[in-house]
This record gives sequence, structure tokens and C-alpha cells, in this order.
Amino acid sequence: MDAERTEIGTLGEFGLISEITKGLEVKREETLLGIGDDAALLKMKEGYQTLVSTDLLCEGIHFDLTYSPLKHLGYKAVVVNLSDICAMNGVPTQVVVGLALSNRFSVEAVKELYGGVRLACERYGVDLVGGDTTSSNSGLMLSVTALGQVKPDQVTLRNGATAGDLLVVSGELGGAYMGLQILEREKLVFKEAPGAQPELDGHEELLERQLKPEARTDVVEELAKLELLPTAMIDISDGLASEALHIAAQSGCGVRLYEEKIPMAEKMYDAARDFNLDPTMCALSGGEDYELLFTVPQERFEDIRNHPMFSIVGHLTEDQEDRALITRNGMETELKAQGWDGLSADS
Ligand code: ADP
Ligand code: MG
Repeated sequence: MDAERTEIGTLGEFGLISEITKGLEVKREETLLGIGDDAALLKMKEGYQTLVSTDLLCEGIHFDLTYSPLKHLGYKAVVVNLSDICAMNGVPTQVVVGLALSNRFSVEAVKELYGGVRLACERYGVDLVGGDTTSSNSGLMLSVTALGQVKPDQVTLRNGATAGDLLVVSGELGGAYMGLQILEREKLVFKEAPGAQPELDGHEELLERQLKPEARTDVVEELAKLELLPTAMIDISDGLASEALHIAAQSGCGVRLYEEKIPMAEKMYDAARDFNLDPTMCALSGGEDYELLFTVPQERFEDIRNHPMFSIVGHLTEDQEDRALITRNGMETELKAQGWDGLSADS
């Protein structure tokens, strides 16, 4: 399949590192020294504190190379870490990347992966300042650590919400999960009839939500512009229900969420119906949307109410035992963090 295949062994570790980091330049003034020495050298901007977040992605556990293009994987690995920096109300500044490769990967494949890493760094204005490269006997492992900066009085933790605060989410939910369902379906079809053409047309939006998510740095900027400091914030990696329960539990509050307020894209809704899935459950438990979920005092209702970026999906309550989902027909059910099983409409 590869047009060209250069074995990593022909370059060696140093040759590979120099190949994938070729032409990289640091752009931020806080980066005094990037790749090339024993460690990167960074300066902290006056009046800011440092945020650090890391994620380790393992082949077969966190991603599947049968449908995840390497370039997208590199992009996503960076983005999910930048999203964590956003969730603290910070600005991402640098990343370092750890890479473990089996000899299954060619130099071209690693460059493809790094193309995605580099694209994400460019897109978000962060410097790639180092990493480590080693071999692996069990597939590809990719670890990204992101650094960011935030003013001490602007940090948003998960535990700062109080009863009465509004629960607000950016963007639309459930799309990444539906994208995954479509990819899994096509993988099955392909297994049974190799050579079958995948039916992905018309689903580009959902596939992109799964394969190439974005970090909501624009939301962090918008909050600053509105002079709106959330009382608590988290990014949605595991689904709205799970993250809302995290904020509530860590803030010592209850939470009430309204089904009719949950923002969903029409494409997601239609695809869920096609799959006989409940769209609300996809949004609540699907995960990987990387939208931001935050709380604001009720006084800020007017700032949020008609803002195109935001939806008010519920509020926090006094009683810690309170975990309610109010359905479209006004029924009250327990809000549960379900994980990815049990999403089917029948369960
Ligand atoms: P060391 O022996 O000190 O660990 P290396 O030879 O592993 O140094 O790395 C040399 C330089 O290349 C260092 O600056 C390191 O940060 C950088 N580097 C190594 N691997 C990667 C990678 N996968 N991505 C980005 N930079 C890397
Ligand atoms: Mg090293």
C-alpha cells in the first residue's frame, strides 16, 4: 500500500528524530529553547502560573489504526491535551511528545503521524519543545504532555460551583460518539467483505468530530471577552452526564439537567435514529466531544442565554443526593454516568 517504505532501522533513532522534527521553529516568546538539547528551557510569563496535563494513548485501547488515519491520530493526541488546559481556563503554550514504535511502522508512517502533531501545534500556536522516541513490542504508544499558562485569579477548578449556579455547555454533543459508531460499522462490513467500499459519504461532519476534534480555545477567549469567570469548568471527554456529576460531586452540590436543553446537531440526531440509538443518551454518555462544561452564577444568565456558543443545560442544587435528568415529557429520572455500554435505545 505504501508508495514508499523506509525502514526506521536505516535511519536509526537520531536520524528518525531529526527527520520528524526537521524545520520546526519555536514561535512563543516563553520558549527559550526547544528541541535539540537535554531539556527544553521555558520562561514563565510575569504574573502567570503553569498548567501541566498529560495523556497516554495506546494502540488497540485508545485508538484503532484500521480506521484512524495516522495524521488524524497525531492531531487528536495533541488536541485532547490542549482541551485539558482550556478546561482550567488556560492558554496552551508548549507540548512534548513521547513515542514508542514497533518495526511495523515505516519512517513515512511516523512522518505522517508527526504531520498531525505539527499541524495541531501550528493551528493552536503552541511550540513542540521535545519528546522521546523508543521502540515498542506491542504496537504504537503516543504520550503528549501539554503546558499552559493562566493568571492565578482566572483558574477554573472542578470544585468551585455553588447551588443555584447555571450549568452551561459549549457547542453540540454526541457527534464524536456517532462518528465512532459509523467507523465501527464500516469496519465490520469490511471484515466480512474485504474490498467493500465504505459507506462514509454524508457523514463527514460526524467522522470529523471523532477523528479530528478541536480544543475550545475560542471558548476560553470568549469567556475572557465577556469577563465571565466560570465558578467551575471541565472538558467533556466522557460524556455530559459523567462530567456534570464530577462538577457537582467535587463542588458538594446536586445537579439537575434538562433533556430538551441539550444541544445536538441534526446530523447526530438523524444518525443515532438510523442506528436505533437514543440521541439523548449519545449526548449524555457518548464522550470525546471535547466541548467545555462550566458553571456560572445566575446573575450572568443574560450573557449566556442568547449566546450562539453556549447552551444552558441545567443548574446546581443544594442537596448532594440530587442527580436528576428531567426528560422532554417532564418526567424525572436519575442522571447516571453510564459509560459507553448500554447506550442502545432499548436498554
Ligand atoms: P536524550 O538522550 O537526552 O533523551 P534524545 O536523543 O532522546 O535525548 O532527544 C534529542 C532531542 O530530540 C531532545 O531535545 C528531545 O526532546 C527531542 N526529541 C526526541 N524524541 C522526540 C519526539 N518524538 N518528538 C519531539 N522531540 C523529540
Ligand atoms: Mg530521549
